[in-house]
Parts: sequence; structure tokens; C-alpha cells
Amino acid sequence: MENGEMKTNEAQAHKGRLIVLTGPTAVGKGTVEAKLLAKHPEVWVSVSATTRDPRPGEVNGKNYWFMSEDEFVARERRNWFLETAVVHGMAHYGTPLQPVLDHLARNIPTILEIDLQGARRVKQRAAELNLEIVSVFIAPPSYDELVKRLIGRGTENEEQRKKRLETAKVELAAEPEFDVRIVNDTVDRAADELWDVIAKEYGIAE
Ligand code: 5GP
Repeated sequence: MENGEMKTNEAQAHKGRLIVLTGPTAVGKGTVEAKLLAKHPEVWVSVSATTRDPRPGEVNGKNYWFMSEDEFVARERRNWFLETAVVHGMAHYGTPLQPVLDHLARNIPTILEIDLQGARRVKQRAAELNLEIVSVFIAPPSYDELVKRLIGRGTENEEQRKKRLETAKVELAAEPEFDVRIVNDTVDRAADELWDVIAKEYGIAE
């Protein structure tokens, strides 16, 4: 028993930290992540579940696990999620727990791209789950630039855009809660900065 405990502690001591990435809507988190993955395919980004409809081109199991509200809530009851949140007051989003634990146990650099509520919830649960976390905030160069990017994306209607901008204001105000801040002025630079954080946390030499 004692030996077993020691082994667990040793394993934990060498385990990489979970990278929790948050940033306001349309800041370009997805683009930064895609760039990071293109350069460093060894990184794993958790696939969330959501009850929102797929956007054109989104693939089930790749971008999200798309599911009905009934299924989402049933999984929530079974403690299938690390965290869940209702985002922009519209749809449920959640991080499946087990794949995160599995990847961390294998020391694979692991990223969650989740909203502010989710990031807070993961922090709350860190001790219980024996997780070490580095929270990263992706910031826009300015609020005006964020509005421009959201409108430019053109994937939301007026009502959705309004909700997203309201959420964005709340999220921008929460920036000081995060361990690391990365400004997404150019995607390449932001992706490199994110990699520097990962390389440091996982003890990867360049
Ligand atoms: P979108 O609908 O644009 O893909 O994502 C909307 C928001 O939901 C983004 O801020 C994104 O970070 C957040 N989100 C995506 N997956 C999750 C998740 O598993 N949990 C939480 N809490 N937020 C998520």
C-alpha cells in the first residue's frame, strides 16, 4: 500500500501540467491552436462536448462531440465531465474527464480550450483530481479589434453576436486571474509563445 502510494506520488511529480486556455470570443484561440498543432503535433487538445449546432465544416469527434441536451445532462449526472458550463447563455459545453487524465498520465502536452467559467471550475477541482494547472489567457490587441474579428467571422447572427460581446467584456475583465497572458496580435508569435509555455511545463528541450 505504502509503496503504491509512493509510486503515485512519484508519477505525479513528473506529470506535466494541464494547460487551460481561455480568451474572449473571436480572439482567435482556434487559429492559434491550429498553428501550434501544425508545428507541434505531439500536443493534444481536448475535444469538448456541446449542445450547439455544428457550424459548416465542423466534424463530430474532431471539433466537438455534438450531442442533444438530454444526452449532455445524462453524462453530466454520471460525472463524465471535468467541467461544464452554459456559454453565452445559449448552449452547454463540457470537457470529458477521462481522456484528459489519460493524456496527462502519458505526459502528453494537454490543452483545454474552454471559457472563463470552465477555467474557474477546473481550478476549483484541481486538488481533488490531483491536477496541476497553468492557466493561459489569450488577449486581443484591443477591444475594437475583437469586435472587428467577430463581425468579420460572420458565423453569428446579430443576437448571437450581442451575447458573445457581452460575454467577452466579462472575460476580458478576468484576465488578472490567469497565470500567463498571450496577446494574439500575430498568430505565429502567439503560437510560439504558447509553445514556450508548454515546453517549459513539460520539460521539453528545444
Ligand atoms: P464556440 O461555440 O465558438 O465553439 O465556443 C464558444 C465558447 O465555448 C468558447 O469561449 C469556448 O472556449 C467555450 N468552450 C468550448 N468548449 C468548452 C468546454 O468544454 N467547456 C467550457 N466551459 N467552455 C468551452
